[in-house]
Amino acid sequence: MYQLSQDQIDFQARARDLAQNVIAPRAAEVDRTEQYPWDNVQALKDAGFIGITIPKELGGQGRSFLDAVILIVEMAKVCGVTGRIAVECNMGAVSAVMKYGDDAQRKMAAEIVLSGDKPAICITEPDAGSAASEMTTRADKKGDAYIINGKKHWITGGGVSRLHLIFARVFENGMENGIAGFLAVRDPNTQTPKGLRIGDREPTMGLRGIPEAEIYFEDLEIAESMMIIPPEGLRRGFAGLMNAYNSQRVGAAAVSRSTVQVSPMQSSDVSQGESRTRAPTSPSSPVIQASRNRSDPPSPGNRIDPNPRPLGNNAVNHECPFMRARVRGPYRCVRSPVALTRWLWPS
Ligand SMILES: Cc1cc2nc3c(=O)[nH]c(=O)nc-3n(C[C@H](O)[C@H](O)[C@H](O)COP(=O)(O)OP(=O)(O)OC[C@H]3O[C@@H](n4cnc5c(N)ncnc54)[C@H](O)[C@@H]3O)c2cc1C
Repeated sequence: MYQLSQDQIDFQARARDLAQNVIAPRAAEVDRTEQYPWDNVQALKDAGFIGITIPKELGGQGRSFLDAVILIVEMAKVCGVTGRIAVECNMGAVSAVMKYGDDAQRKMAAEIVLSGDKPAICITEPDAGSAASEMTTRADKKGDAYIINGKKHWITGGGVSRLHLIFARVFENGMENGIAGFLAVRDPNTQTPKGLRIGDREPTMGLRGIPEAEIYFEDLEIAESMMIIPPEGLRRGFAGLMNAYNSQRVGAAAVSRSTVQVSPMQSSDVSQGESRTRAPTSPSSPVIQASRNRSDPPSPGNRIDPNPRPLGNNAVNHECPFMRARVRGPYRCVRSPVALTRWLWPS
């Protein structure tokens, strides 16, 4: 069995302390309000838990993916959204840029992530989900830039993220050359560049404090210098980029595993004195309280809407203290129980 090093045990203790004392008390509110938890981002940043896998020479800590998972597990046990933020700030898109980006791209990405940004990775399209390589978003070469057009959906952080890694099919003189990644930086304050437009927020079961959104690319111009191609070349670009992105899958699984440890149904076991969870969470934890509250008779402000309004009617503000950004997202709120977790992960 793998033994954590003393450094990792200390790191875990620090993460657990922050999770239990700072993140946990806010978890129910994050879920209830569906607001992106900028306070938690600041807390993670202050504790040195953002960009931990970024190399030291770029301002990070050069920590391993295992260290990132240790952090993610502690956060996700008390707040799935903060767990997801810990994933995206340490794995996934940022790892792909660190692996394949040139010096300027890596420096730019490191600075943005270390400032507290959760990068967005834009792969999935309405007709290209599991079969992601069937994407139709295209990048047409024009001089020393590419013009991106297409639509993505289910983009985690759409509307709050600044750094975007966009996967697109590359065309030159009408000929398709393969799939590459393109880095775009959105300013949520000015909502620029205009060609990167955030669409509707997609409703989710759980993880309600982080937006999943549609993103439209409408003649978005990206300099060629912001194009990322793995060493294997454009023809193998998709496989290469996905390899570098795969760390995110481990992080996402860690969030699911940890969230299930304190699932609502397990919380009822706790309340009946037959705890089956190994999570260090007491019945009074906000996660458990939140799940209990959900099974309470709905209050007027917390009712499941039998006729959901069209997306776009429930505006939620996302205020970013780092950028003084205020993004008004046309978001809908759908409230759903998450009791499936016990079925998905029986004890
Ligand atoms: C919470 C959340 C966050 C996400 N964040 C991001 C993000 O940040 N960026 C991003 O790009 N994407 C994101 N996604 C999208 C995610 O990557 C896709 O949902 C995933 O790739 C599956 O695609 P799909 O939803 O279109 O399902 P589909 O591909 O339509 O699959 C639906 C079902 O059919 C099955 N299926 C599909 N093809 C086959 C086949 N050939 N044979 C047998 N069974 C099949 C699948 O296993 C699945 O059960 C997110 C999704 C969620 C739910």
